[in-house]
Amino acid sequence: MSLADKVAAIFEGPQAARIHFRLGRLEVSPQRLRGVGAAIRKGRIKIEVAKTGKLLSAAYHPHGDTLTLGDDKLASVSSRAAVLHEGIHALVDMYKCKEVTVLNDEAAAYLAEAIFLRASHSWINGGAAEMAIYNAADQVAKAHDLYSRRGVKLSTDDVADLRAAIHKHPAYSGIGLKQKTSGHGLHAH
Ligand SMILES: [Zn+2]
Repeated sequence: MSLADKVAAIFEGPQAARIHFRLGRLEVSPQRLRGVGAAIRKGRIKIEVAKTGKLLSAAYHPHGDTLTLGDDKLASVSSRAAVLHEGIHALVDMYKCKEVTVLNDEAAAYLAEAIFLRASHSWINGGAAEMAIYNAADQVAKAHDLYSRRGVKLSTDDVADLRAAIHKHPAYSGIGLKQKTSGHGLHAH
């Protein structure tokens, strides 16, 4: 299996099929996640393996439509969850969700990760700032039944604690509260 096929499979598997919610105007659905998987298979979203920095184990760069992985093995659930997280940013880009703020984009990515991890009967072990984010995502998911219901609608207020936990993390503290994502769509190749 090529690396692109391996990554695409994360978006097409049974865990991703359980991720369906709206945060404001951003919809994260199994159909859209499969769309990200298809774009990865077609090379419209490129996959590269490189150092992604100490704080994050994967990254998505909208200007090059590129998803960067820390390693190409994807052996652990947490490494696949990290790819899924970046796939939410790719989804925001691909479906041109221009009105979404960076903090809501991150909140949606962590909620999707939480659903993916629980569906995989797994969870994260990390530092305090990181765990504050995952625990806040878990609280939102439990309070709004994201682990079992499909198509739940969340407002920015519903994720206030999660947004605060993200903003407190050193990797995200520079993000403006109203800063918008790029969401400009994938480039024509
Ligand atoms: Zn992110």
